[in-house]
Amino acid sequence: MKRYYISTFGCQMNVHDSEKMAGILKLEGYEKTDNVKDADFVIFNTCSIRQKAEQKFFSELGRIKKLKKRRPDLTIVVAGCIAQQEGNNIVERASHVDYVLGPQNINALRDIVNLTANHVFLDDNPYITEIELPADRNDNVRAWVNIMYGCDNFCSYCIVPYTRGREKSRASQNIINEIKVLADKGYKEVTLLGQNVNSYKSDMDFPGLLKEINEIKGIKRIRFVTSHPKDLSDELIFAIRDLDKVCEHIHLPLQSGSTKILTLMNRKYTYGDYLKKIEKLRKEIPDIAITSDIIAGFPQETVEDHKDTVRALKEIEFDGIFAFKFSPRPGTKASLMSGHLSDDIKSERLSEILELQNKITEKKNKELKDILQEVLIEGHNEKNPSKFTGRTRTNKVVNISATDDIKTGDIVNVKIICTRRHSLEGEIV
Ligand code: SF4
Repeated sequence: MKRYYISTFGCQMNVHDSEKMAGILKLEGYEKTDNVKDADFVIFNTCSIRQKAEQKFFSELGRIKKLKKRRPDLTIVVAGCIAQQEGNNIVERASHVDYVLGPQNINALRDIVNLTANHVFLDDNPYITEIELPADRNDNVRAWVNIMYGCDNFCSYCIVPYTRGREKSRASQNIINEIKVLADKGYKEVTLLGQNVNSYKSDMDFPGLLKEINEIKGIKRIRFVTSHPKDLSDELIFAIRDLDKVCEHIHLPLQSGSTKILTLMNRKYTYGDYLKKIEKLRKEIPDIAITSDIIAGFPQETVEDHKDTVRALKEIEFDGIFAFKFSPRPGTKASLMSGHLSDDIKSERLSEILELQNKITEKKNKELKDILQEVLIEGHNEKNPSKFTGRTRTNKVVNISATDDIKTGDIVNVKIICTRRHSLEGEIV
């Protein structure tokens, strides 16, 4: 039997794209291997959101050259955002690459496997929402489901609208059918995926879609990522409040606490607008957990702008954040802006942001001590198999001593007995 190996970089969108590529290869008779040396077919599913991920991919690509020399029949595919952005340059730079596959052309993998293909697949794919691909999912309890592709927002630092194209929503019935099949297979939780799920639009809007999915028997929890603050409507806030399966957690990227920097980022909201949405969310759903993304050291960010971000973190008190140094991406407006900051300044500002947020996250987790939480068991803790690991509805990781009474996929009530920065300890009640 032939074997495939997939190396995935970047966001959940890429993780799920890799599941779809695995599904296609499985149907074509391939078996998965975790050792690249055993593979006949290797895919690098790349990310170009930050320079670090790009460098990591190119060094992995360099390392596989020797293997290709020894085994010329090995097929090497570069997929994902770097594939879309660099196109033929990848083959010019690394002649051992056989195929370049943009994120809108995953379905072309079938042609590649059957060797009837061209070598570069980068066209805009108007049918992407209609093509149903058989994902081979990594998890048996929680599933990712694409509801839309692409993005129309053109934030000045981001390459996604160039690599994944404009927004296209899947038909609601196709999404519902996919989730019904997942429910029949025993999945308990779905996370609806899109670069900007709030602007989902087919025969219904996003809150309407949530209502339909809430009716699907067997599915116990619904999550979604990512929400753009400018499109967070009252209807969506009410849907999170009123629909029993929609979890009380939202990831709402702020990016900066300075309205001047938000304008340079082309985020289309002010800090004041953002704060109003947070206040509304907390008024309607008092227990909601809110997480966010922050970029440290955007071009032209002054000390005052940075202080605005620090102030925002203190004022809002997110449950957690993903924070990164600004990384100029070729082809984006921000990369051409004046006033780029030195790496030292960006690192200093990032450290201050992370240090502060760590304290806030710890404090927020401490507030959960002795509180009852509903936990979906995801499986045994990888480092400590005598424990089960699961998540609260607010997306916090909880470790629980394993007993024979509970199994993966169960939803249990747990009392939080110990809190840490990144996880909680609980006992079944
Ligand atoms: S909303 Fe902005 S940051 Fe998010 S994918 Fe679209 S352009 Fe990129």
